[in-house]
Formats: sequence, C-alpha cells, structure tokens
Amino acid sequence: MTKPPLIWLNIVIFATTFLIALVVVPYRAITHGFDTFEILTAIACFCYCGMSITAGYHRLWSHRTYKAHASLRFIYAIGGAFALQNSILHWCSDHRVHHKHVDNNDVDPYSAKRGFWFSHIGWMIREHQGDAYSNYDNARDLQKEKIVVWQHKYYVPLAIATNFGIPLALGWLHGDIISSLLLAGVLRLVLSHHTTFFINSLAHIWGKQTYTDKNTARDNGILAFFTFGEGYHNFHHIFENDYRNGIRWYQYDPTKWLIKGCSYLNLTTNLRKTPEDKIAMAKAKMQLTVSKVKLENKVNADELLAKLHHEYDILVEKMSQFYHAKKQLIADKSNLLEAEKQALLKQYEELKSAFAEQRRHWNAFTAQYA
Ligand SMILES: [Zn+2]
Ligand SMILES: [Zn+2]
Repeated sequence: MTKPPLIWLNIVIFATTFLIALVVVPYRAITHGFDTFEILTAIACFCYCGMSITAGYHRLWSHRTYKAHASLRFIYAIGGAFALQNSILHWCSDHRVHHKHVDNNDVDPYSAKRGFWFSHIGWMIREHQGDAYSNYDNARDLQKEKIVVWQHKYYVPLAIATNFGIPLALGWLHGDIISSLLLAGVLRLVLSHHTTFFINSLAHIWGKQTYTDKNTARDNGILAFFTFGEGYHNFHHIFENDYRNGIRWYQYDPTKWLIKGCSYLNLTTNLRKTPEDKIAMAKAKMQLTVSKVKLENKVNADELLAKLHHEYDILVEKMSQFYHAKKQLIADKSNLLEAEKQALLKQYEELKSAFAEQRRHWNAFTAQYA
C-alpha cells in the first residue's frame, strides 16, 4: 500500500521547533542563562496555550460541556492559535470523529490502535484524511458561532501574530528578545504540542480502565499533571459531556477548576455533570468485568464467581436504593413538613451508610483479585 503524501509544512514546523528546543535552548541556558522573568512568562504562556486547548477547544467547543461568555471564548480563540493546533473548527471536528469512532483505524483520525507514533504525531505529517480533511459537517453548531468562524478565517495570521508577537513583545519589554523567542516562543510551543499529543497517544495506552474497556482510553494521574487534567481520559471517553475529567476532589484537573472558578464570575454557565449513580454504576460494572477474568483461572472458580455476582447484586441494590432516596430528598425538600423531612433524611442517612458499607465490602473483595 502506498503511503499518503507528506505534509512538509507540518514536518518543518515540528522538526525545527523540536531541534531548537532540544539543542539551542539548553545551549543558551548554559552559555547565557535565563532569568526569572523569562522562565515565568514562558510558564504563563504554556498554561495559556494548554488551557485554551483543554477548557476551550476541548471541553467547551468539542463537547459543549458548559457555556462561556464571549470574552472568555475570545481569550481561548487567541490562545488556541498561539498553541498552533489548527483552528477551533478543524480541531473540534477531528475530535468529534475521534470520540464517535474511537479506535476505528479507518475513521478515527488519531486511532491509538495504529500505534504510539501515529496517534501522537504521525497522523499530522501525512495526508491521511484526504478529502475528509475539510469536511466540517459534524460541527454545524460551530459554523454558526462568530468567534469560531472568525478564528478559522484568520487562523494563519493569528497563529503567526501570537507565536512571534507575544515572545517578541515580552523580549522587547524585558530587553532580551532572543531569550524570549527561545523560551516563551519555541520551548513553550514544543512542550505545549507534545503534552497535548500525549492525550491521543499515551492516554490511550498507559493507565487504568476505571469505567469502561469498550475503548483504549486510560485514566492516568501522572499524565493529568502534565495536561491540565486531561489524563483522566477513560472517564472522559465514557462521559464526554461532563465538564470535569478528574471527578474526585483530589484528582488534579486545573481545567475543571478554571471552568468552575469562572462560573463564580458568571463567565461560565450550564456546567454539565454526569449523575453520580451513572458513574458509580459504570465503575462497579468495570470492577465486575475485571474480577471475573481474574477469578476464571482459580481452582474454585465457580464458587468465587457465584460469590462475586452475589456481592455485585447487593451493591447494585444498595446503590439504587441510596440514589433513589437522594433524588427524592432533593425533589421533595420544599414540599414536605418538617417531620416528614426528618423521616426522609433519616432514611437517606441509613441507606447512605448501608451503601457505603457494601461498597467497602465490594472494593475489598474485588481488590483481592485485582
Ligand atoms: Zn474529548
Ligand atoms: Zn481520546
């Protein structure tokens, strides 16, 4: 099979920036040094690019997990051009195909089943998509959004203006243009590129399948640290409409904190969350699947499997009783008399602790065979 033609512009950009970051930046660091201002502004630019992609391109425009004020959308649109990852329209259209046809080597533009190199960067250096490249039929909503259309139209000048203009302005202000071009310009771009690319490659290879094994996506706390929270990719692929990727309070997801933080300023609204019971159910189902496989090879497999299913059934029962009571409590709260409210609350607390206890039991039981 002949390979699709190479895209030389992308190859030149990726290769030259990577080589400069690898050779020239360390050389400059040794021979000249970088000062605090240069380092901090480069970090700020890295965060600006990264979060414009995660909070803007990804969670806002690709998945519509919340609504954002025009000023915030404008900031994201500029940051996205600065991140040099194509226009919002193009990125999101690709990303929607990725979710819809995940791991399908013929359709998913960066299918992880085609290997690390392909899903990381290989998919961008050859014309793999052919005619589908500029088909944005799956992003009609975005084609109606003024900022998106404007950014798509002026993407190239915006990308050039931000990638040269911002580092040049910082260098001019601070008195060392070369250092700023190297650090806030090139190193920031290379790190921003590859950390984002890791979501398509590593986050589909390395980590835990907490909620589903229907696709290759993985949850990985280490990756989350380098990708503004996007490492919880297994959760994201099953619940893509959730504005969070790391759902626990201790899971590092600065994108989630940014979106939530902006909601206090009314810059973001309609933050969408997956109902807790759905999440708990998916997790329990996955634990059941994993444990079943582990138990099948044991000597007393039949006995253990029967016990596993028994524990699972109790868990599901306690879980549905608890979430049903919770929903009832929230729905009826204002219509109830004080005494009724107290009774309902008491029942809710009992179901809550019964569920918590069975969950502990279940986790301990499945952990033995994990
Ligand atoms: Zn996504
Ligand atoms: Zn993915």
